[in-house]
Amino acid sequence: MAYDVVVIGSGPGGYSAAVRAGQYGLKTAIIERQPRLGGTCLLVGCIPTKSLLHSADVWNYFQHAEEQGIESAGATLNYPAVVGRKNKIVTKHSKGVEYLMRKNKVDVIRGQARLVGGTRIEVTNEQGVQTLEPRTIILATGSEARMLPGLEPDSELILTNIEILELTAIPKTLGIIGAGAVGMEFASAFSRFGSKVTVLEMLPRVVPVEDEEVSKEMEKVFKRQGIRCETGAKVENVRRNAQSVSLSVTLANGSREELEFDKLLVAVGRKPNTENLGLENTSVELDRGFVKVDGRQRTAQPGIYAIGDIVAGTPQLAHVAAAEGMVAVGDIAGKPRPPINKRRIPGATYTEPGIGSVGLTEAQARAQGYQVKVGKFPFVGDSKATILGSHDGFVKVVADEKYGEILGVHIVGPEAFELIAEAVTAMEAEATVDTLMNTIHAHPTLYEAIGEAFNAVPGLAINI
Ligand SMILES: Cc1cc2nc3c(=O)[nH]c(=O)nc-3n(C[C@H](O)[C@H](O)[C@H](O)COP(=O)(O)OP(=O)(O)OC[C@H]3O[C@@H](n4cnc5c(N)ncnc54)[C@H](O)[C@@H]3O)c2cc1C
Repeated sequence: MAYDVVVIGSGPGGYSAAVRAGQYGLKTAIIERQPRLGGTCLLVGCIPTKSLLHSADVWNYFQHAEEQGIESAGATLNYPAVVGRKNKIVTKHSKGVEYLMRKNKVDVIRGQARLVGGTRIEVTNEQGVQTLEPRTIILATGSEARMLPGLEPDSELILTNIEILELTAIPKTLGIIGAGAVGMEFASAFSRFGSKVTVLEMLPRVVPVEDEEVSKEMEKVFKRQGIRCETGAKVENVRRNAQSVSLSVTLANGSREELEFDKLLVAVGRKPNTENLGLENTSVELDRGFVKVDGRQRTAQPGIYAIGDIVAGTPQLAHVAAAEGMVAVGDIAGKPRPPINKRRIPGATYTEPGIGSVGLTEAQARAQGYQVKVGKFPFVGDSKATILGSHDGFVKVVADEKYGEILGVHIVGPEAFELIAEAVTAMEAEATVDTLMNTIHAHPTLYEAIGEAFNAVPGLAINI
């Protein structure tokens, strides 16, 4: 078969690119080594975690129902049913990806792909080895959990995102190493399901890529929720016991503590799947394991593109993977799209409270020499937040004083991951602080807080 495009990997990057290639009439195939399509995001990442987090939200409502005048005595948490629901959602959407491949006439080839020179690919599965030589290749092989040196996950005690999603009972105590989005989301879910959660982070703050004020607010609220957060903490000497895991930790104040947990989740980042891919047979260049690409997602080897978690310099997020796929296929099809603009990538963390952010943090904007002007509006001044009983957090706008350019927007609070959409659209449309000040926001809504934060830039917020 003479393919125009062969995509390796069926995560959000790969399958979206394959659909777009099919829409453009390119003869396309996708190679996947897992039995199910969908990649990390669908099978063991975005989707199953958000399903658990939603169930945690619902359970939390039941536990605080009397605040709303509702008696919910007798409500119980059936965790195996929560996991069953999550599994159903994953299966439904994985079948959905298969449907999309059929709909867009994309051939699905099962097996492990390896580059063997030029644009030749060898695919190995139980039936044997087949060789393809398409016109172009899109590498979308994604990432896997990084482990601490010398530590291996098992399905019992030391877990990654894969094993923790398979638990059928809530651990009494859960230790989490790493306070990035993944660690914080599992902390938020399991704490609300009833685990005593401890988060250990080596860096000086939780969610370290976010604006410093967001990190501060998250740590404050998590602590109030009963989650122990230790930042500046150095974990050593992790030991498996018969029924638990022990570790030593040196805390930020220099004191040393021995901790023991029923389960330990390691969430210290993701390493790109660029090993065993045969890249040594090509001229594709790597930067610490990540593939180097240009603004059109082209690698250094003509005809080979790379997208998603394996790419150097863009955040490891599903929507980034998909957007990079559009850029790569646009180039292949002669329908170019603008390159990824790193300043317009929303970040979303689905904790309670949630986080949504886009653009520069205040510190980054100052470091880049802007005349920074900040507007901030707390959800305590927003009536819809009161109605929801969810008052923590704020919207923070980072703007340039000179022309009112919006440099960044950082939200921590109820539905922050949904609310951030307005800021992303505004920045994409190159709207200014003035535009957002004059935008009418429906009342009562959570997104009124965004309008108020923009009004707060020149000190004109109303409800605070
Ligand atoms: C717990 C968790 C929660 C997350 N939540 C979110 C979220 O809410 N929002 C968000 O935007 N991002 C989230 N992410 C990140 C998101 O999952 C990734 O950014 C996204 O999956 C990357 O997509 P991708 O297409 O690059 O690769 P992947 O989704 O990793 O897919 C790569 C695919 O390639 C296949 N593959 C690899 N090598 C080969 C080979 N040699 N031959 C054949 N097949 C191969 C793999 O089997 C896999 O199916 C989360 C991640 C985790 C771990």
